Amino acid sequence: MVIVMKSVASQRDIDYVVRRAQSLGLKAHISAQNGQTLIGVTGDIKGLDPKSLTGLRGVEQVRAMTRPFRLASREFKSERTVVTVRGREVGGDGIVIMAGPCSVETRDQIVRTAAGCAEAGATFFRGGAFKPRSSPYAFQGLAEEGLALLAEARELTGMPIVTEVLSSEQVPLVAQYADVLQIGTRNMQNYMLLHAAGETGMPVLLKRGMMSTVEEFLLSAEYILSHGNPNVLLCERGIRTFETYTRNSLDINVVPALKELSHLPVIVDPSHATGKASLVKAVSKGAIAAGADGLIIEAHHDPERAWSDAFQTISIPRLAELTDEVDAIARAVGRAVVREPLAQSTA
Ligand code: PEP
Ligand code: MN
Repeated sequence: MVIVMKSVASQRDIDYVVRRAQSLGLKAHISAQNGQTLIGVTGDIKGLDPKSLTGLRGVEQVRAMTRPFRLASREFKSERTVVTVRGREVGGDGIVIMAGPCSVETRDQIVRTAAGCAEAGATFFRGGAFKPRSSPYAFQGLAEEGLALLAEARELTGMPIVTEVLSSEQVPLVAQYADVLQIGTRNMQNYMLLHAAGETGMPVLLKRGMMSTVEEFLLSAEYILSHGNPNVLLCERGIRTFETYTRNSLDINVVPALKELSHLPVIVDPSHATGKASLVKAVSKGAIAAGADGLIIEAHHDPERAWSDAFQTISIPRLAELTDEVDAIARAVGRAVVREPLAQSTA
């Protein structure tokens, strides 16, 4: 349930409600909206009579939450969440472009690709140092050496780093280098990993499981949120269907559906959704028209020679073209691509 405090409620009133919830073995999650404090109460609330809370000092209203995902839902928080990463906002009015190679390969590749992506209008740099490959014989990533190269790319361009973490054991290492922890489609229901990512408090880009429903997706986000981390970005990257022409099928429905159900920012990955470089630009435009807050795109200074996902990786000139066309679509829906990084770091 959500306890909406009056705007005049004092800190003591809030603390009292929190302690009351905790004394019943429940967890209290605080957030603010329109100058009012909201206290989300989670746990086994069956024995809790809402009337026993309505009379407490400072309480304006007690509302039930009907969705199984609670902290992720609009019922808990109707205002959209804006996640700030090194001074860059995700989920605000601006559209963010995250771009970079599928895998970190060499220093030369990272330096050239990062500089190219920044120039082409990207404001976040992506790249995998730990790769979840379908085959154990495929390139598995450069591990810590790759993370260090990503950190170098951040030094050079100022772009925050989005990189994947494959297991809960890896979280402390990846968190030392990353600005956004990426949890991949294959790990969307790795609850130990979600828990560990939740405990870092860091921004997490959670990709939708390739066979997961919207409810399962939001329940996975809920794992991160329920461990005290409000900085979750939802990422639609295509789901498995009967279609084989494309690698996956982008579920465009899910963009407005997630916006309706949740306050969290939505990012679309047209690269893994299509698996084809030639389709990435058109699908990117569709995603922004449907209400996505940003895109994560595989780009490389020499895409044909990419060590992984070469088919779906676009060149730097194509990324620049994409950014311009996406900006035109964004402006048609009252938004714009964020191009200038903010000078001040808030990370
Ligand atoms: C990736 O972003 O390179 C990746 C492996 O994505 P996904 O988990 O969506 O397959
Ligand atoms: Mn990839």
